[in-house]
Amino acid sequence: MARYIGPSCRLCRREGQKLFLKGERCSTEACAISRRGTNPPGSYKQGRRMRKPSDYAIRLREKQKMRRIYGILEKQFRRYFQRATRMKGMTGTNLLQLLETRLDNVVFRLGFAPSRKAARQLVLHRHFNVDGQIVNIPSFQVSPGQVINVRDNSKDLEIVHDSLRNIGEDVVPWLQLEKPKLQGKLLSIPTREEIPVEAQEQLVVEYYSR
Ligand code: SF4
Repeated sequence: MARYIGPSCRLCRREGQKLFLKGERCSTEACAISRRGTNPPGSYKQGRRMRKPSDYAIRLREKQKMRRIYGILEKQFRRYFQRATRMKGMTGTNLLQLLETRLDNVVFRLGFAPSRKAARQLVLHRHFNVDGQIVNIPSFQVSPGQVINVRDNSKDLEIVHDSLRNIGEDVVPWLQLEKPKLQGKLLSIPTREEIPVEAQEQLVVEYYSR
């Protein structure tokens, strides 16, 4: 399974905002955006001047940003978009709903991992069951009513407990978390308002529809 293995902070600097790709570090002073500001990588050395971005560039950046938030490569992201166009409703919202209900994202939102990247790794290493069956596919699409739990052999994983401590009691309203059981449930497909992602999905739709 292909994935981006370069520096995460560079992606945030390229998009000019925090994408929260590194978990706890993102909320500290060690964050590269807090330390170095939002200038894109390379812009100092080469003395580039910022030009007004074209309409195409604005849409491209929004698409790249969304792709990077969820840690998905171009080919797969395009497949999600094509799937979203075939669904009923608004394509942009459908796209976000597909991304949010991936197993790695649900594990992250439940607080079992500090970042989506860490969640993907935990899923790949077979630490989770979905409805009692091991699932080690990060892109597995979770359906409403399905229960995700940390497997018995993995219940002592430090990363899971540290992460749960840091999220406190709050999870998004479309998920239910039972902390003592290390278990969660997808209650419903989230509405756009229930997806805490700062992205303009309409621009992503326009990018692919050009
Ligand atoms: Fe982005 Fe987190 Fe790195 Fe900050 S620490 S630049 S939010 S990945």
